[in-house]
Amino acid sequence: MKKPIFVSKPYIPPLEKYKLYLERAFDQSILTNNGPLVQELELKLKELLAVKHLVLVANGTLALQIASKIKNLENKQTITTPYTFAATLTSLEWQNCPYTIGKIDPYNWNLMPDEVEREVSVGNVNAMLPVNIFGMPCDLDKFEAISNKYDVPLIYDSAHSLFSKYKGKSIFDFGDIHCVSLHATKLFHSTEGGILVFKHAEDEIAARKLINFGIAADGSIDEPGINAKMSELHAAMGLTVLDDLKFIIEERQNIIANYKSYLSSDFIYQSASYDNFTQPIYLPIKFPSAESLDRAFNQLAKHNVFARKYFHPSAYQFLSDENRDRLASSLPIVSNILCLPLMNGLTDNEVKYISDIVNRALE
Ligand SMILES: *Cc1c(COP(=O)(O)O)cnc(C)c1O
Repeated sequence: MKKPIFVSKPYIPPLEKYKLYLERAFDQSILTNNGPLVQELELKLKELLAVKHLVLVANGTLALQIASKIKNLENKQTITTPYTFAATLTSLEWQNCPYTIGKIDPYNWNLMPDEVEREVSVGNVNAMLPVNIFGMPCDLDKFEAISNKYDVPLIYDSAHSLFSKYKGKSIFDFGDIHCVSLHATKLFHSTEGGILVFKHAEDEIAARKLINFGIAADGSIDEPGINAKMSELHAAMGLTVLDDLKFIIEERQNIIANYKSYLSSDFIYQSASYDNFTQPIYLPIKFPSAESLDRAFNQLAKHNVFARKYFHPSAYQFLSDENRDRLASSLPIVSNILCLPLMNGLTDNEVKYISDIVNRALE
């Protein structure tokens, strides 16, 4: 390839459409502080997702930090997954929340509920933070049952799974809080941004205070908050991209279908035993060995194609010794997973070109 292909590229909407939303902010001289564009984006997302309690924030990491604050995780022991982007873990570290790392399912690559239940049942753990990795929903029924039986908070890092479905249902029917990222590289984005979705009305009220320094409607501040507000300029980008959402999803689904038609049947895809819709945000494939993955990665790079070993957890030097040991149990699975380039505008020729190189690495 003459021009490099990276693992992802932000969706760039037509500038003219973005300008129409920006003009509204300029005309009204409102740039932030829960302005009309933020309110419109919230309303549209609430309708689209059929949820009652939704708050836009400045990014997905702040969404995680606000969620851990609302559920008081600094005084609990949280269990989370070893296979995730650093922000899941760094947000817990930043909030001084103690946590332990569980095991992942060999097929869906998400936190395995069985061990979590054992740890919760004996009182070692009293909060859960699973991640719907690469958009694939966790076994939401199982985590819900644990949360209800032992009365422990359940927060999902849904950074990848805004439009994913579980057994035909919305993922937002499950859990206490979902934290979504609207970063430019995610499927649906607002340049930088995030969403909090709540089951309980009181958690939404708490979040609205916390994202605005802790200031309540009457002006009092009973708990220090932070500034996590989304600006009007970011909401304008969100509204613009939202208008193209159907096209974004359909085109990426076609690209994935093309990859699957070209790639060798020796590759293993992320899969679940339950019915699900995984939004087309990444294309991870599992190689038969770490060596074949390295061969493919290097060959791709030689041809100006940059795949990514996403979330390679051995990079997380900040972990405690105990968590580093616990994380090591996931390495035999995750060391064989590579994400191939997936972005809107990737052509069929490019997909075939990439697939051929990757297939040859198996030989
Ligand atoms: C992107 C991401 C985040 C962080 O979101 P930002 O909006 O970039 O702050 C958190 N968790 C996961 C799994 C992510 O991929």
